Amino acid sequence: MRKKIVAGNWKMNCDISETYELLDALSEYELAEDVQVMVAPPFTSLQAANQALIDTDILVVAQNMHQAESGAYTGEISAAMLKSAGVDTVIIGHSERRAYFGESNGILAEKVNAALKANMQIIFCFGEELDDRQRGEHFDRVSSQLSQGLFHLEESAWENIILAYEPVWAIGTGETASPEQVQEMHKFIRRTIGERYTAKIADSISILYGGSVKPENAGEIFGKPDVDGGLIGGASLKAESFAAIINAFS
Ligand code: PEP
Repeated sequence: MRKKIVAGNWKMNCDISETYELLDALSEYELAEDVQVMVAPPFTSLQAANQALIDTDILVVAQNMHQAESGAYTGEISAAMLKSAGVDTVIIGHSERRAYFGESNGILAEKVNAALKANMQIIFCFGEELDDRQRGEHFDRVSSQLSQGLFHLEESAWENIILAYEPVWAIGTGETASPEQVQEMHKFIRRTIGERYTAKIADSISILYGGSVKPENAGEIFGKPDVDGGLIGGASLKAESFAAIINAFS
């Protein structure tokens, strides 16, 4: 059974007091009960977020982790450290990590392995650049990101994977993929997984869309048959817009 999920990626925003403020404001809204809500604050706010959300079903998620278990990796955070902060879900492969921090498909596959070894759930992000789409190579790009990042996994690992298709040209730009473009790609992703694995895995995986989702466009995007929710950047930083997006499923 595919889960409906709306996850907020706060990126490098919200110190500890702002984390409490935002989550306090969010608690004023009634949120759809059949949607798994997640928030991904920066590392320094993970514990505060967990504390603020202790009596709720909202999950606290990390934005990144290192692939090694421990060691001389100054400035990095391991899966075990996240787990000790009460975090069991991690975003891997966000386009900003790929673009600004040189995270290749190979490194991301190692991160996926490390997270799974630590029994974590993963939101795996991928998506084409604008020039891939302009050249008509967006399906190839997505297919190679999926195969290099995830297709080494055993079937059983897939119950811990959530996918987030995020076309790079639509992230933080105000430019959204049309609901038809989103559906076309999500259908392709599901078919690709079905061909590599099984129809059962393809039918049960949640595929989120990310890229300038707002209260005004969320309903139409989430209404498409292969879309199971969204990974939300900018609009997750305001309780009102994040709540409206969570409640946008019809
Ligand atoms: C994101 O960072 O994952 C994202 C989708 O950002 P935005 O919603 O701001 O485009």
